[in-house]
Amino acid sequence: MKYDLSEATELLRQLVAIKSYPGAEHDVQYAIRDWFLANGMIAEVWPTTQAPNIVVRIENGAGPTFMLNGHTDTVLAADGWECDPWQGNIDGDIMYGLGACDMKCGVVANMLVTREFARHRDKWRGTLICSVVVDEEAYSLGANTLIEQGIKADYCIVTESLPDIELGATGKILIKADVIGKAAHGFMPWQGINAASEAARFVVGVDALALGQHPRIPASQSILSFLSGSAQYVVTIPERAEVLVSRQIVPGETNETVLGQMNDMVTSLNSPARIELSTPPPYYPPFEISADHVLVQATQRAFTAVHGRPAEYVYSTGVSDANLFAELAHIPTILVGCTGGNYHQCQEWVNLPSMIKLCDVCTQVICELLPVTE
Ligand SMILES: [Zn+2]
Repeated sequence: MKYDLSEATELLRQLVAIKSYPGAEHDVQYAIRDWFLANGMIAEVWPTTQAPNIVVRIENGAGPTFMLNGHTDTVLAADGWECDPWQGNIDGDIMYGLGACDMKCGVVANMLVTREFARHRDKWRGTLICSVVVDEEAYSLGANTLIEQGIKADYCIVTESLPDIELGATGKILIKADVIGKAAHGFMPWQGINAASEAARFVVGVDALALGQHPRIPASQSILSFLSGSAQYVVTIPERAEVLVSRQIVPGETNETVLGQMNDMVTSLNSPARIELSTPPPYYPPFEISADHVLVQATQRAFTAVHGRPAEYVYSTGVSDANLFAELAHIPTILVGCTGGNYHQCQEWVNLPSMIKLCDVCTQVICELLPVTE
């Protein structure tokens, strides 16, 4: 099975040219469906409450099911692009463009690999799924909906760009603290309860909390916002405050353990205000796959053969749809992808030949794990 760099480059250029912010991926999703149809494959449109996911399923006899996954949404274009973010400026082996690296290049690789496996059915047995999902950069609506709709597989590769193989990642909980005090005239503060001051005490308490510990995956947390008082100058004790905390958790921690820890801290503050904690979406469980897993071993063999060096095993301090496939759908999942940089920044770029290397890695892994046995 062979892959053509000029075809991959042209397909990536076409996908980058279609603006696809989270919640507005309809055009790119239907373009991908049409590409599959034009290449003789059935592309199913799986609805979500926003733009649909696209699912291609190549059934080829008894055997395991392998899923290649990627997302087509991009982050919002930052200020300061030196070229049109959707024009896919090419300079030698490098393509600049919004989503070129994160991760339309990985989606292109998944599409080309799926077509090759549809064409060369004598080389493998089982089922190959190519799922192209939406909204990964926001709420992971695409992956969550795919899982609710019952997607199943024995192995999954998420082709997010990274130089090595990712075997695990932190999870993420969003914690919202609503602080309810009592308004009063600012010249008689003793008549009120200052929600801003109480929220500040809460923030100090959050910063002092012990984070989860894991030998490979580092936990972290950030205060994302702190809102209180009136934007207009008035001498009034703020009645309400709201604090948003992003907590990156490690295996062993859950929604419940984190909320329990925070509620204990809130109790210890003895605040005159009411501090109510909630966990709005998105939620991602942490995940880790063993380096001994057959999927990891096969991918390491393929990676080493294609790249001429063994891959390092890396663990992410952030989340992706891989967390959801691994922990909510219980599909053994790893991430391997193209080489690039400037994710979520201006001048996002991808190394174009790395798309072909990714195709070759995926091909070798799928052939090994979905072998012809008779
Ligand atoms: Zn991504």
